[in-house]
Amino acid sequence: MKIAQVRHMSITTFHAVADSPIQSYWEYTAFTEVDICIVGAGIIGLSTALECREKFPSANITIVEQAPHGHGATTRNAGFACFGSATELLHDVDAFGHNHAFEIANERYLGLQKLLQRCSPESIKYEHLGGAELIRASELHMLDRLSEMNALAKEITGDSETYVLLSKEEQESLGFSTAVKAVIMNKHEGQLHSGHLHATLERLAREADIRIEFGSKVMSIQDDHQAIAMISCPIGDYVLKAKAIILANNASIPLLASEFPIKPGRGQVIVTSPIEDLSFQGAYHIEEGFYYFRSLGNRILLGGGRNLDFQTEETYEFGHTDLVMNALETLLRDIIIPGKEYAIDYAWSGLMGFTPNKKPIVSNVSDHVYCAFGCNGMGVALGSRIAQSITQLITV
Ligand SMILES: Cc1cc2nc3c(=O)[nH]c(=O)nc-3n(C[C@H](O)[C@H](O)[C@H](O)COP(=O)(O)OP(=O)(O)OC[C@H]3O[C@@H](n4cnc5c(N)ncnc54)[C@H](O)[C@@H]3O)c2cc1C
Repeated sequence: MKIAQVRHMSITTFHAVADSPIQSYWEYTAFTEVDICIVGAGIIGLSTALECREKFPSANITIVEQAPHGHGATTRNAGFACFGSATELLHDVDAFGHNHAFEIANERYLGLQKLLQRCSPESIKYEHLGGAELIRASELHMLDRLSEMNALAKEITGDSETYVLLSKEEQESLGFSTAVKAVIMNKHEGQLHSGHLHATLERLAREADIRIEFGSKVMSIQDDHQAIAMISCPIGDYVLKAKAIILANNASIPLLASEFPIKPGRGQVIVTSPIEDLSFQGAYHIEEGFYYFRSLGNRILLGGGRNLDFQTEETYEFGHTDLVMNALETLLRDIIIPGKEYAIDYAWSGLMGFTPNKKPIVSNVSDHVYCAFGCNGMGVALGSRIAQSITQLITV
């Protein structure tokens, strides 16, 4: 790597020791050497910065974020504060075994506790409305395992009735189509406003004297007795050196550290116009969480459908496909609000990152570079726990 630049001018010759021609002496000496640099201002990056502040009270901490504000999954998700829908939990038990399923759900539960401890419920517009799952005819056999689910959930919540089967009257009052045969409610879940969550974490970071360099993209990383980030921003390129760099840039971590088995996955989301007499509030899952919807005041947010075409959705590109959009609209029209008028007011997509076994990757990449990742589409819940785990590893 080129550490010093030597420029020749016609009248005199001078040596510029800064790594970038865009930096003044003042900028170079004040900003380019820090103790801790975090790549990505999503929930993991911001929470890790806050954890680091607690562990290293006088450390110089900078977050480098490519977008004008967070532009990853944290501000593009559905805002479910959930730790395990019924069939998702059973899927994990069947696929990975009881202990593995318990560990994931427990980490999510503890992560949500930590998040609500850090951010006041008012600041993130947290609503404790429960999280439920719609059971269709093909999934009715899952009801036979309700007590198994509750036994596992009791180890997490301490409540022997975490999952409750709604009565016929309660179910009918929600207004779903008759294709919905049962509704299982997890009493300990809620939902929040993802934009306000991000804004709150950003405010807490600033209050904790953490710098955030927005609009700066880390192009590559080197470890040469210290960690070095090569950064590009609209006015040019510069270098940031740190005692520790933590990669918290989610699905795009492999673009900076290729050795990790992380795969991107796009999530497509829509929000309806206000619905007259919307009959339900709260957060709902269908099909092991592959589809999800929730109330947003009197609007509905609905997303999912990645399982319709995993290959196409394994992408770093934002965007929509007709296949997924049509599936979401069909679900809305036929199952969620049959017979109701609506329009689609908002549509967006976001990128998740997946590991092979749904477990986080929190580790060293090299002596001074670390990686904090692994939300597998559950980062609202897991993000605060991953931040705690990575901070334990860091030395500066
Ligand atoms: C559509 C959708 C719905 C979801 N719904 C939920 C939900 O309801 N509940 C839940 O718990 N989880 C949900 N998730 C998952 C959750 O949002 C994520 O797991 C979580 O936000 C990941 O946080 P993060 O900090 O790892 O990454 P991100 O929030 O993606 O943050 C990474 C940041 O890094 C920045 N970045 C990337 N590359 C660089 C670079 N080279 N240089 C500088 N900056 C860089 C990005 O701009 C981004 O701001 C959803 C995700 C999606 C996409």
